[in-house]
This record gives sequence, structure tokens and C-alpha cells, in this order.
Amino acid sequence: MPFASVYPLVTARAVAREFTYEVEEGVGVGAIVRVPFGRSRARGIVTAIVDAPPPGVDARPIEAVIGEIPPTLVQLALWLADYYGSTPARALALVAPETPKRRKEQAPPAERQSLSGEAEPLQLSPPQIAAVERIVNGQGNYLLYGATGSGKTEVYLQAIASMLERGFGAIVLVPEIALAPQTVGRVRARFGENVAILHSGLTDAERRDERERIASGEARIVVGARSAIFAPVRGLGLIVVDEEHDPSYKQDSDPRYDARTVAAKRAALEGAVAVYGSATPRPESWAALERLDLGGRLGADLPPVRVIDLRREAGYPLSAPLLNELRKVAERRGKAILLLNRRGIAPALHCRACGTTIRCPNCDVALVLHGDVSLRCHHCGHTTDSPSNCPACGSPDLARLGAGTQKLERELARELPELELIRLDADAVAKPEQLAIALQRFRETDGVVLLGTQMVAKGHHFSGVELAAVIDADTGLSMPDFRAEERTFQLITQLAGRSGRDAPGRVLVQTFQPDARPIAHAARHDVGRFLTEELERRKALDYPPYAHLVRIVVSGPEIEPVVRALEELKAGISGAELLGPAALLRLRGKHRAQLVAKTEHPRRIASQAARLLSAAAPAMRKAKLTAVVDVDPQSL
Ligand code: ADP
Ligand code: ZN
Ligand code: ZN
Repeated sequence: MPFASVYPLVTARAVAREFTYEVEEGVGVGAIVRVPFGRSRARGIVTAIVDAPPPGVDARPIEAVIGEIPPTLVQLALWLADYYGSTPARALALVAPETPKRRKEQAPPAERQSLSGEAEPLQLSPPQIAAVERIVNGQGNYLLYGATGSGKTEVYLQAIASMLERGFGAIVLVPEIALAPQTVGRVRARFGENVAILHSGLTDAERRDERERIASGEARIVVGARSAIFAPVRGLGLIVVDEEHDPSYKQDSDPRYDARTVAAKRAALEGAVAVYGSATPRPESWAALERLDLGGRLGADLPPVRVIDLRREAGYPLSAPLLNELRKVAERRGKAILLLNRRGIAPALHCRACGTTIRCPNCDVALVLHGDVSLRCHHCGHTTDSPSNCPACGSPDLARLGAGTQKLERELARELPELELIRLDADAVAKPEQLAIALQRFRETDGVVLLGTQMVAKGHHFSGVELAAVIDADTGLSMPDFRAEERTFQLITQLAGRSGRDAPGRVLVQTFQPDARPIAHAARHDVGRFLTEELERRKALDYPPYAHLVRIVVSGPEIEPVVRALEELKAGISGAELLGPAALLRLRGKHRAQLVAKTEHPRRIASQAARLLSAAAPAMRKAKLTAVVDVDPQSL
């Protein structure tokens, strides 16, 4: 009998190692097995087949083989655990997620996404032909760069078709299924039952059915958000990462993987091609990838952008020029999209008498006024009634600072009652169904405004949008993060791309900093210039892509032990430039601080940190400290 190295899928770091079991002939790497484990049982993955157990080990037989994943996914998971400093068990659980047993009573099949695209391939333009050729005959990673509406999706579709003809499968990653109904619809319209769709709204039974269709080869194309990168597609030929600039590709809980990096690794392991598509690529991709350039929009120009200087125009959130444009939309019964990246009525309540701003008791942030009656913390969810008097001095003179989406909605209703308003933010559309209904309603209605947070700027393709406006382009710029400028540029450019796709469009950007680089370049649609300058800045500061970052955050009930733990860590880490410890905002009652390493060897730094942290674990437990190591963090 052969023996197998098995990683039990248990989360405890203490047993994060392989165990040897006896298996029957024919069981191979990638088998999902049920094994006796201690006094109970565990699910596990076979990572190697060996002739004999290690000396002194009395290997028990496995109980059963209950499934199978492609061996390359085992390799991918072990690499991921190492690179992101997680455990193999947690990484393997990503590629072999637990699916419940088939129950007698099956859930009704999920309603299929509507089919909103052309079933027949379009006649490609010369740059599209060149891009498809390069992708299907190439190897490695490509950046597919082109304005919104330049034909990127058609390139994906024809590259996939060509891969299918040659017997290969494909994975298409989108930031969020609910925000990408058109892209999903177009893939389905072109490839029908050959497509499996993985999204968070699936029931367990539906998810298992989709995984089975993928594993059996019935569905050769998988569309999904970041975790779809682990789909058990066999003979993978192509990975498409649509809207590659989107921060949601990074998972913010352990394992803190970035699906874009994982896509490149999986493509390399399987000899597949990875294509990263965007109108506003990341500086990282711009610098590193071979670029396939589609140029401007097909059949239309990008809309002119007018910057409104709020230092000179009164009326925030609705300046006079913006109201003017909105009146024209109302007269013509057109459509407009307004972006304000803040929820609620007012981002802060401020006492005019004593200057107090009402803060969350658990976090170092102001409470946000929602619906006039309640104050909410956007970090921890703490909610309280809105006071009528200042809690510090008793004055009734409380000012509402700034504006959120609810206030914008209210002002619009007052100024332009003839326009229908559809609000899109986490309060208004808590569930994916509500989101789908809102997007559908906007599509079908005339004389309508879609207003909301960054959700409104995602890859929607609406026809008939004649006005897009950013209410407050400065919101993101003030963030203490080296990606603040990149994010602001992407948000404005992406929003501008929603307008004028099939009719003349206009874009307004309201700002207090009209000369800020991301705003000025976005107003000219000058992506290349912005990225070139941004890369120069990154190089001067030694930020990604010129170095990797590893971020270590420690949190605890008092600030001193938190900082001391990070000082000790700092003393023990070598081979990297270390920034900090720097205190962060208090969150959920916990004091926090971070150490940021700039390095060419993120795995080495992460594993040094992990070793030091595990040596310090008993002391840290005593002081109630917790630590998180984040490799290639997306925000600081
Ligand atoms: P992107 O993904 O870059 O936003 P799309 O692929 O959605 O661009 O293309 C924009 C629009 O142009 C879509 O309506 C699409 O059907 C159409 N289109 C794409 N390629 C062609 C082509 N070669 N000829 C005609 N229309 C095209
Ligand atoms: Zn006061
Ligand atoms: Zn809070």
C-alpha cells in the first residue's frame, strides 16, 4: 500500500503540518480525503504520495476519498500560504471549499442571468485583432488597455472562443458579480451552458452544482469574483481579470491574497495566459506588463470634463453649474449619474458653541448622521440616537458638517422634483437583488438620476447617460495613503466613462483642489501621463511597483504595549526599510499601530515577522495583543 502526505483542513496553527496516512493504489495528489484525526475526523488534501511513512510514524489508513481537485491547485495553495504568510490548511480550504452533502430536497435552480449581449461575434477592429492574436498565441501576462467602450470585452470573448476551440478552458474574474450584470450576460449569451457563474448569492446546493459542472468539464468557462481564481477548471488556457484596478481583488482576511497575483501564479503553473483589462490600469501593471492598446472609444469620443472650482462656486453639494446641467437632463428626460463617496446625511455633527465633534466611543472617527435621527460609526457599526444638545456643553447649536448621499438625495428632490432618484449605496441596496432592481430601473427609466457611492462608477454600461458628475473629488485625496491619488484618478476617470457612450455626454467634477494632479489629468482623460508621473513619484519614494510592502498591524487594549511589541519586532527584522511604528485610528475599542516594511523580498520579511510573532505569542496573549501580517497591502 502507498502512503500519502495529507494536510488536514483544520484552522489551528498548532497542527498546521502534514500527516501521513495509508491510501489505496491510485489515490493521487489533489485527492480530498476524510481521515481520522486525533479522536475525531477531518477533511484533508493529499499533497504528496510517498513509499513509506517517516520513521517511527504509525500511519493509519484514510477513511474515504470524497473528492478531487487538479494537482496544480494544490501547488497554487501551498505557494499562496507561503507568500502571504498563512497556513497551508487555510490556503487549501480556498481551493477545496467544503460543500454540503446532496440533500434529498433540492433547492430550485437559480434563475439564470438575463442574456443582455450579442450572441454572434463582432467583426473586430485592427487593434482588437492584434490583441486577440497576441493573447491566444502568447504566454505570460498582458495588460489590455483601452478607454471604457473601446472593445475590451469583445477581445476577451473572442480570445475565450479561440481557446475553447483549441480545447482549453477559461476563468473570467470580475470585481463583483452584482455590479457586472452586462459582462456576465455577454459571456453567457456567447457561450451559453458552457459558462458557470460563481457568486456569493448562490445557495450551497447551487454552488456545489456549479463546481461539479466545472470539475466534470461540462462548463469550461467560469465567471466570478476573486475566489473564482481557484475554480477547478481543467486545461486552463486563459485567465481574464476585468477592471484589474479594482481593490476588491484583494481579500482582507486571512489568507490575505490578491487574486491578481494569484492569477499570474496560476497562469505560470498551468502554462496559461493572464490578461488584465482596464481603462485605468494600476501603475504596477503599467510598468510590468506587455501592453495591448485598444485606444479610444469605438464610435464615440470620450465626453468633455469640466472642473468646477468649489472655492468659487457656492451651493455645495449642488453648485450652480451642476444644477444647470441637471435641469437640462430633466428637460430632455435624460439620465445622469452622480458620485458622492460618503453615506448618510452628514459625515459629522459639530457643536458651534464648544467645538466638539461627536465621536464613536470605540473608534477614533466622527459619527455619521443617518436619516436625521441616528448617529452611526462607519467603522464598527456603533449606533446611537442623534442628540438634540451637545453632549459636552449642552448647547443646542449642533451643525451638520459636509454632505453624504442621503443629503444629496434630499437636495435633489427639493431642487428637481421632476427627476426620479435612485440611490445606490450600502444602506439603500444591502442585498444583491436590490442592486439588480436598482440598476434595471435606471436602465428602463427616463428623467432619472442614479446617485451613490463608488458603486455607481463601477463597470456599468448604461446607454443614454448624458451627464456624470463627481460631487466631491477631494474625499479620497485627503486619505493618508500612497494610493490616494491613484484611487482618485481611477474613480473620476471611471465615472466619466459612464457618460456619453451612445449620445453626447458631459462630465462635471466638483473640487476644492482643481490643480491636484489626479483631477487635472482625469479631466483630460490623460491616463498615460498620469501613470508616467505616478510611477516617477513611486520610484522616488520607493513604493510599489519599485518595492513590495509588508504591513504588520498590532492591536490591543492599551497603546503602549502595542507600540512596544512593534518596536521589538522592528529590532528583529533585517533586510528591509522599516517605517513606524505609527499609531493608527482606534478601532472597535482597540488601540492599533503599524510597521510597514519596504522590501524586494516580501516572503522573507513576512516569514521573519511570523517567526518573531510566534516566539512572542505567549507574551502577546498575556497583554491581549493580536497581530496581522499583510503582504502587498492595498491600503495603509
Ligand atoms: P469595453 O469592455 O472596453 O468597455 P466593449 O467590449 O463593451 O468595451 O465594447 C463597447 C461597445 O462596442 C459594445 O456595445 C460592443 O458591443 C461594441 N463593440 C465592441 N467591439 C466592436 C466591434 N469590433 N465592432 C462593433 N462594435 C463593437
Ligand atoms: Zn458643545
Ligand atoms: Zn466605531
